[in-house]
Amino acid sequence: MAFLNENYLKLKAGYLFPEIARRVANFTYENKEAAARLIRCGIGDVTEALPAAARDAMKAAVDELGDRGTFRGYGPEQGYGFLREAIVANAYEPLGCKITADEIFISDGSKCDTGSILDIFGHRNRIAITDPVYPVYVDTNVMCGNTGDVQEDGSHGGLVYLPCRPSNNFVPRLPAEKVDLIYLCYPNNPTGATASFSELVTWVDFARANQAIILFDAAYEAYITEPGVPHSIYEIEGAKDCAIEFRSFSKHGGFTGVRCAYTVVPKDLLASTEDGKRHPLHPLWARRQSTKFNGVSYPVQRGAEALFSEQGKKEVQELITHYLGNATILREACIKAGLDVYGGINAPYIWVACPEGVKSWELFDRMLNEANVVITPGAGFGTAGEGYFRISAFNSRANAEEVARRIAAMKW
Ligand SMILES: *Cc1c(COP(=O)(O)O)cnc(C)c1O
Repeated sequence: MAFLNENYLKLKAGYLFPEIARRVANFTYENKEAAARLIRCGIGDVTEALPAAARDAMKAAVDELGDRGTFRGYGPEQGYGFLREAIVANAYEPLGCKITADEIFISDGSKCDTGSILDIFGHRNRIAITDPVYPVYVDTNVMCGNTGDVQEDGSHGGLVYLPCRPSNNFVPRLPAEKVDLIYLCYPNNPTGATASFSELVTWVDFARANQAIILFDAAYEAYITEPGVPHSIYEIEGAKDCAIEFRSFSKHGGFTGVRCAYTVVPKDLLASTEDGKRHPLHPLWARRQSTKFNGVSYPVQRGAEALFSEQGKKEVQELITHYLGNATILREACIKAGLDVYGGINAPYIWVACPEGVKSWELFDRMLNEANVVITPGAGFGTAGEGYFRISAFNSRANAEEVARRIAAMKW
């Protein structure tokens, strides 16, 4: 008899995006005409063309593979040196962060890295997760058995939830209890909030004092437009002792379909064995990757490298300016409608409070039926997301403008 991993049975049946897809499918089946007007501002996926710099580099790399003399087979599991060095020079040196190329691990996505990282941690850790949150952090902890029973409100026993609300500017206060692993994501998905230097200093100091580790997801770092907002956790003194950083080319260079990301595991970062001995985590992640992963395709790594070329940087900036322009249009429409609006300045997401007494799935259905716009209900990101909804700015300009008009036309 084969036994299954029972932890999977604890996962919430209606994972957010399948549930949205189900409701949208029902709606389009029953309202053929309205369906043609449907605009999706739900899932966080980019919409605009891939930068030419990346396409040209990938084409050239494919041609190299077509010639026996320049052909390459398996690459290094941790990624090619050319990309790791380009990351150091372009993503970290300008910030004054002393990250070395061998601390960078190239992968095919931050989603898988934020999930797979749990492979190198023990099962005794108390895990702190912001609420609302990118659901991957929660579900991967459920899958590997780090959580207890599902509670009535949909939360998972055994996790320490850190509520993020307007009252704390969506940056959690320190927990009263001891925690060992802390997931932070800034600029934040779903709230669009940023964390300030002093807020991150508080967390880094807490982590160091408790020998805890921060798992810092900086997937939206490229969207920071305001000065004085940290782009990397390593801008905070002492963070190399207590933090792993995840970054991705998905939102940075429109690479959601191309697949390339990286994770920084500093060599100074230690964790404890059961008997209290401290060991570096870097060799564990290196071992995990070389055993379970075989690297990102060569053309894709060349494409990612090209995002750091002069032309690539210019094209990335154009993409980001485009999406943030949409965010401004959507933000202003919501403000004009009298709604409380957050985010959308240093992130492609707008986090909006539902009108008094309206629940987020109720608002999802209203937006779908009355405006034919798909948004993401805040409750799908956690209990503290109830009463909010997320609008994604990943869209064409025409669609963003049309959504703004429909928001203005709705009776709030
Ligand atoms: C989009 C996103 C990522 C990137 O995931 P990839 O697998 O690299 O595409 C990571 N974290 C968050 C919070 C995201 O929204």
